[in-house]
Amino acid sequence: MQMTHGSAAPSEWFTGDAWITPVADSGEGARTQIDSVRFAPGARTVWHRHPLGQVLVVTEGTGRVQRRGGPVETVRAGDTVRIAPGEWHWHGAAPDRSMTHLAIEPIPGDGASAEAGEPVGDGEYRGDGAEDVPPITRTVLLDQLLAPARSTHRVEVRRITIAPRRAAGLHVHNGPVFGSIETGSVVYQIEGEAAAVLGPGDVFYEPEGARIARFDAEEDGVTFLGYFLLADGQEAEIEFPGL
Ligand code: MN
Repeated sequence: MQMTHGSAAPSEWFTGDAWITPVADSGEGARTQIDSVRFAPGARTVWHRHPLGQVLVVTEGTGRVQRRGGPVETVRAGDTVRIAPGEWHWHGAAPDRSMTHLAIEPIPGDGASAEAGEPVGDGEYRGDGAEDVPPITRTVLLDQLLAPARSTHRVEVRRITIAPRRAAGLHVHNGPVFGSIETGSVVYQIEGEAAAVLGPGDVFYEPEGARIARFDAEEDGVTFLGYFLLADGQEAEIEFPGL
């Protein structure tokens, strides 16, 4: 007979105090690992996933479980929770109650093990996200001087999609153009300058009259918003000097 005692859970996998007692070892040839895990009030795992999933059987107390994209759920002694293979999730105690569960984890033949992700933030743990998501954020993405300075009378905003692997080709605009990538990616290059790959959320500026050598959609194509600054009576025009 072998007696085992709970040992402190590793801090890279847990927030707060937790103790793990192996119940059935995944020793030589074993296909399933079973641990009893006790969480102090407020303690929880980090976000993680198991290659073949996991079954949790709550044996004592009250706890919380969340699957990625789902609500924070309350679990109590007697509850069984099934986590799908590869599904990101976390589990832990309630804020004011401890919780113990059996954790039953099938071990794949290739020995792949569980993967740890980000810690569960306090707001995420409470389920209101209050501390993790500020109500408003403001970030300056671009602060661009216009050369030459100009009087803008109108701004035309266009949504433009370029098919996968299609190149816009060398082109020149008759006014400044700003853009922000929505989806996909594109190689952007002003003639004589370095090329850059732009992805979702990136912004760019095509100066008035500049020769844009490349605006080439990559494998996934690209969709972006273009903001065309126009003088009184001016229409947005594009020239292709190479054609
Ligand atoms: Mn788990």
